[in-house]
Amino acid sequence: MAFEATILTLYPDMFPGPLGHSLSGRALEKGLWGLQTRQIRDYATDKHRSVDDTPAGGGAGMVLRADILARAIDDAATVEDPRPRILMSPRGRPLTQARAHELAEGPGAIIVCGRFEGVDQRVIDSRRLEEISIGDYILSGGEIGAITLLDAVVRLIPGVMGNMHSADTESFETGLLEHPQYTRPQEFEGMTIPEVLTSGNHKKIAEWQRQQAEELTQQRRPDLWDAYTRK
Ligand code: SAH
Repeated sequence: MAFEATILTLYPDMFPGPLGHSLSGRALEKGLWGLQTRQIRDYATDKHRSVDDTPAGGGAGMVLRADILARAIDDAATVEDPRPRILMSPRGRPLTQARAHELAEGPGAIIVCGRFEGVDQRVIDSRRLEEISIGDYILSGGEIGAITLLDAVVRLIPGVMGNMHSADTESFETGLLEHPQYTRPQEFEGMTIPEVLTSGNHKKIAEWQRQQAEELTQQRRPDLWDAYTRK
């Protein structure tokens, strides 16, 4: 079975959005992955179809109700559904290329998009939601996070990227940031392409790229460099 994503959201019209274009869009058309959305509001029970309420203990904003979200999750995923249940959340574990690979190798994902101040803790606990963050900043909702996560995952599904080789040296794949890239024209505003790249000497080219990647990583991401040198 191909990778199947189910998104629980208050804004289903935001999907597939950017995922309907380019690589992921073509792969979606070809059936290399699938995308379904569920409107959380469809699981509300009152006549106003409200999904949120004021936070217990007071404070600003509103919180997505546990009962309504739990019903939406239970309807989207049976207990036997093997797909991981993810909640987009700034408190989650930061998304990494390694997690994207794991997800791409699996059956898909059920992704809950929070809104307002977030979701009631009890639904996170009872439905064992894995919280994933896309970075240390606050978005207004989980949808852009879900699109980001899926974009990172879908391009790793076999057959989605035409030239699989292009993934090998990419930033985070080797533990290093990628070396700089150049293409024609040979001269641009007086700047030329580093000579080694046009030398045809593949060993030298690989050495140069490696050295550049190491320098960049040391300068820009001491955290990655640290992890890399300890490997
Ligand atoms: N009050 C919360 C933020 C709520 S933002 C807090 O301080 O932790 C509303 C929703 O946007 C969240 O429930 C989550 O689904 C989504 N969101 C916001 N920032 C995010 C991030 N960095 N990564 C993933 N999802 C995020």
